[in-house]
Amino acid sequence: MTPGELKALVRTIPDFPKPGILFRDITTLIGHGQGFAAAVGLMADKAREAGAEAIAGIEARGFIFGAAVAARLGLPFVPVRKPGKLPVPVLAMDYALEYGTDTLEVDPGAIHDDKAVVLIDDLIATGGTALAAVQLLRSAGGTVTRALFAIDLPDLGGAERLRTAGVPADALMAFE
Ligand code: 5GP
Repeated sequence: MTPGELKALVRTIPDFPKPGILFRDITTLIGHGQGFAAAVGLMADKAREAGAEAIAGIEARGFIFGAAVAARLGLPFVPVRKPGKLPVPVLAMDYALEYGTDTLEVDPGAIHDDKAVVLIDDLIATGGTALAAVQLLRSAGGTVTRALFAIDLPDLGGAERLRTAGVPADALMAFE
């Protein structure tokens, strides 16, 4: 499957979740068996190249790609969760949204011994979500060697922010 064919499987929904936003929806990509397999395969190749010893995924759409990549590579999967979901004391990180803040949480025991962690999410926009996840994973003792996304929105600068924070970022496709 070519990058162009993969990109064509992403559905664009205007005015979701708010007027003026063009939402890039991966439901149609993961709903296409060959397309989903190709996306997971490409991400797994990149994670392997980055020396991944564990895969972290951001709730919820990052779980879809991240868990599939981890299982494919036979690596541990570390869920970066929305607040209040984990049944143990957590490491938590607040981060800024366009309006207000949100929080991500990780089990402090999820990563051992400075493991090389590859972070996965469906999409990077401003990079605020991924940067918060990187800080959490570092606090838990991991070294984040790469961040992988199905989609990059380069105009919003998130991948560049991640690189500046010392994490090379890579995506399967970009929407300008
Ligand atoms: P950021 O923190 O980089 O600004 O936003 C990225 C986060 O918001 C990701 O967790 C992603 O799932 C979600 N997100 C923001 N915009 C979109 C979009 O257009 N499509 C999808 N699928 N997710 C989005």
